[in-house]
Amino acid sequence: MDQRFTGKTVVVTGASSGIGVGIARRFAREGANLVLAARRKDRLDALAEELGTEHALAVATDVTDRDAVQAMADVAAARFGGIDVLVSNAGMGLYKEFADTTTEDWRQVMTTDVDSCFFGAQAALAHLERSRGSIVHIASASGLGGDRMLSAYNAAKGAVVNFTRGLAFDLGPHGIRVNAVAPSLTLDAELSGHPDAAALIERFNPRRALAGHSTPDDVGAAVAFLASTDARFITGAVLPVDGGIT
Ligand code: NDP
Repeated sequence: MDQRFTGKTVVVTGASSGIGVGIARRFAREGANLVLAARRKDRLDALAEELGTEHALAVATDVTDRDAVQAMADVAAARFGGIDVLVSNAGMGLYKEFADTTTEDWRQVMTTDVDSCFFGAQAALAHLERSRGSIVHIASASGLGGDRMLSAYNAAKGAVVNFTRGLAFDLGPHGIRVNAVAPSLTLDAELSGHPDAAALIERFNPRRALAGHSTPDDVGAAVAFLASTDARFITGAVLPVDGGIT
């Protein structure tokens, strides 16, 4: 495997489960130092142990708390001498009838999925400017097309998509690239064996060119590409990892 991130420091939010774990493992295999952020510190510690504590740091962080995100970015930069890549992956979905969606639901999804990207980009800005680094947001196929019973999530991920496109213009002159990956249904090994997996695939991806579903490693590979110098002239892009939804 290429070692595109040797000596680089990558912050991954939402690294305590699912896609975030796949992203962190991918960067670790390519030589990066990892800063793992989420609320469940025990899970972050276990992943840091797996990746090697010399190259991985777990930082308990609530991404909806601006000060906590800033503190995490500063600790990350202090530990490894800077930040080269910010992956804002932490997020939540809410599968609910529109009529039953409360204001509290709406705000929770918005703050977890959208504010988190804003706070992350602002917190990492000075560090990324120094490293001429890059940001990758984890959006969603729902943010490009919209899905039933996901009104708050559709709105939130649509915001992440357009935040990405616009921020690329703001930060390009500072040498920082900003891109997003938009996965469709992504299941880790545990979930893909779940009895409901087939129904989930049918519900979320009724019209796909490719059979099956994506995995956290598929998403990690797309994120690593966008964060790497292989993508040095790509910014403002939203890369679907969706098996070719029509
Ligand atoms: P998981 O529920 O497995 O993981 C969500 C991650 O986000 C966890 O690490 C969780 O950590 C973290 N998180 C949630 N809220 C907060 C918070 N307030 N502060 C800090 N961390 C938080 O979901 P996935 O791995 O499936 O999702 C990861 C991203 O991918 C999300 O943005 C999601 O919207 C997106 N996505 C997922 C798809 C899928 O099918 N799985 C498809 C398309 C996009 P903790 O609870 O420890 O804080």
